[in-house]
Amino acid sequence: MVKNSKIPSASLERVALYLRCLEEIKSKGEIVISSERLAILCRTNPAQVRKDLSYFGEFGVRGIGYDVDELIKSIKRIIGADREWRLCIVGIGNLGLALVGHENFRKRGYRFMAAFDIDPEKYGMELPNGIRIQPLSEMRDTIKRLEIQIGLITTPPSAAQEIADMLGDAGLSMILNFSPIQLRQKEGCIIENVDFTVKLDNLAYHLKELEQDE
Ligand code: ATP
Repeated sequence: MVKNSKIPSASLERVALYLRCLEEIKSKGEIVISSERLAILCRTNPAQVRKDLSYFGEFGVRGIGYDVDELIKSIKRIIGADREWRLCIVGIGNLGLALVGHENFRKRGYRFMAAFDIDPEKYGMELPNGIRIQPLSEMRDTIKRLEIQIGLITTPPSAAQEIADMLGDAGLSMILNFSPIQLRQKEGCIIENVDFTVKLDNLAYHLKELEQDE
């Protein structure tokens, strides 16, 4: 039973991590797991695990733990990981190409259905998964025809806002932006930003602290 559809995004991110741990545990033949063990594997604490999972319903059996298989199924159903999601990607440079060829997307149910670029020399070029690069002018029709649900942006930052607007106009409301720029978000649209250098800044800060302690 799902308690509430409003699960905080920090919990959602942790739960997606729990899911990966649970799948690994299942592959080793384990049937039950305690919140303590799951917390250790996911580098958090048992109270946090119990709180996050409580958004998904009443699972654990006190003193025994969680049924691994049941928990995997419930989490997948609730976060939508039990189905396939159709993606398109705009800007097929080095990063775009690497993402389309990355196995992990397919393994987790994310399927690249279309790719767009502004460079005419790239039109028709076949990507590792068999799709061909299309011009931007075909974006709207392709998104509708292939019922694409999520758009990825891997263009240079100067083009990212225009592309986000085009994706929005084509009917997409979910965007994953890899371009290092904060995008304006239309109402009803969710944009997740992946800026690798923000993560590096975090590491650089810790490195600097370590150096100061020496
Ligand atoms: P490349 O060397 O293949 O051009 P790159 O990895 O150096 O790419 P960028 O210059 O960041 O990367 O460009 C990424 C991709 O985005 C390129 O394929 C480029 O043609 C494409 N691109 C640039 N502007 C736009 C735009 N407005 N709409 C769609 N794609 C664009």
